[in-house]
Amino acid sequence: MASRATAERWLGALTNLPTASGREEAVVEWVEAWVGRRDDLRLTRDDGGNLFITQKGRKSKDPVFAVAHMDHPAFVITGSDGSFEFRGWVDGAYFKDARIEVVSRLDGPGGRVVDYDPDSQLGLARFDGEVSSGDIAMWDFRTVRPGNGRFRAPACDDLAGAAAALAALDRARRQPGLRHFGVMLTRAEEVGLIGAIHAAKNHTIPDGSRLLSIETSRELPTARIGDGPIIRVGDRSTMFDRQMTNLITNAVRREGIVHQRKLMDGGGCEATAFGTYGYLATGLCLALGNWHNRGNLAEVEAGDHSKAQPMLEEISIDDFHGLVDVLLIAAAAVDEPDPLEANLDRLYDSNRHYLG
Ligand SMILES: [Zn+2]
Repeated sequence: MASRATAERWLGALTNLPTASGREEAVVEWVEAWVGRRDDLRLTRDDGGNLFITQKGRKSKDPVFAVAHMDHPAFVITGSDGSFEFRGWVDGAYFKDARIEVVSRLDGPGGRVVDYDPDSQLGLARFDGEVSSGDIAMWDFRTVRPGNGRFRAPACDDLAGAAAALAALDRARRQPGLRHFGVMLTRAEEVGLIGAIHAAKNHTIPDGSRLLSIETSRELPTARIGDGPIIRVGDRSTMFDRQMTNLITNAVRREGIVHQRKLMDGGGCEATAFGTYGYLATGLCLALGNWHNRGNLAEVEAGDHSKAQPMLEEISIDDFHGLVDVLLIAAAAVDEPDPLEANLDRLYDSNRHYLG
């Protein structure tokens, strides 16, 4: 069973892999090896390349999937001259003279962005070594000392979510009542939830599935890093399934887990795609610092572009472990009866006399 130390090793490994929308192969390989070491798990993929990891054996309930995406905003080199396409969204200010490095091979050269057009998301970088089409590059991050309970890595969004999902699955394997719990890992989220939309539109997700969409989401003044994993009631576009969200909240409160229940409207989330196309879905997330590697984001958004500095993303280590606990509680809670109407009925019966 995944101890805290083991789960943290997976977190460290996954969030440092080279990945980009449509170029998630390093993550896929890592996950294939992880599943390969566990005889009781099965890995399948749909025709869009989304992964489904399920437990073998008979299940008495409809599936519950913890969902995370495998991509992260990154540079994909398109020519040996250093031309690139940036996949995912980062403000143009961060590209000005930015130092980047090829991370998809060990001897990848470093370089500097010399031109970038935020509209087309195409640009040119000058590298101090050879590059070829298909190389993946990321920002050249300054090393930051670990400390104060924070974990920092290039791609917490959403590989920390993937690590939490796999850690939860590893623990669910020991619990016969959670055999219906599985993990879905999607592709190309950063370019518009594309893997999730593909799966939902084409029904590659088993009918009747309940989806717990995990994200790291921009820290908000009301949703701080370190204040616990977040039960996410909605994102910037919509609200998530009311009943699922409430059942999970009730169960997490009952268990006394430190958590937050918030509308995280700083960004979007795959639960939006699942819900829109008819699946029951809600969100869980971790508050994230330096979202999409944008250090000093608030200052940059306020107009001070000189502050644009690529930085490692960061989360709270305790929030991460709390999320694993919440996932397991949520997987069981979504099949509980919803007490809300009975609670309201009771209130009504005892207090209706106020209406005269
Ligand atoms: Zn993102």
